[in-house]
Amino acid sequence: MPTVISHSIVSFALGKTIKWKQSTSVAFYSFACGSLSDLDFVGRYFGIKYLDHWGHRGWSHSLLMASIIGLVLGYLCSQKGWYSKLGWWLYFTVLTSTHTLLDMCTTGGHGVALYAPWSHLRHFFPDQFRVVRVSPMHFHHFTWEKLAPVFMSELLWLILPITCLLFVRWVFEARRA
Ligand SMILES: [Zn+2]
Repeated sequence: MPTVISHSIVSFALGKTIKWKQSTSVAFYSFACGSLSDLDFVGRYFGIKYLDHWGHRGWSHSLLMASIIGLVLGYLCSQKGWYSKLGWWLYFTVLTSTHTLLDMCTTGGHGVALYAPWSHLRHFFPDQFRVVRVSPMHFHHFTWEKLAPVFMSELLWLILPITCLLFVRWVFEARRA
């Protein structure tokens, strides 16, 4: 995985690009939903193995789970009317899915169970798109020597592009004002 903070920065910035004016709760959920999938690490403490269905990058990283998270957060943020609910559901599903798509761009670990529960095959993007260095998962591996190349890779491939996208949206909003 990229680091949790990078996942959240990407989902937040993409959300802000899609919808510039946001309430505090929408901004908070937009930030949080980018990292929710990695809560599956808790399973490790209950004996769930990495490649189990409920293991890391398993069910929790599927498109169906992104859609369920999108449904819950969308419901919390929507106003009256089906179009509001549908809009927020799509919004949070897209933001939550960024986590899975970014994990598919990483250089290590196992792929994500994109189509769980129908298929538990693990997927990555083709090699030429796997450019984000994988972050260590265990706390005792969190040393500067291991994390520095990960941060540099995330800066280049995640933070820089999403900041450019956000900047373009900001210019658009500034011109409109
Ligand atoms: Zn992940």
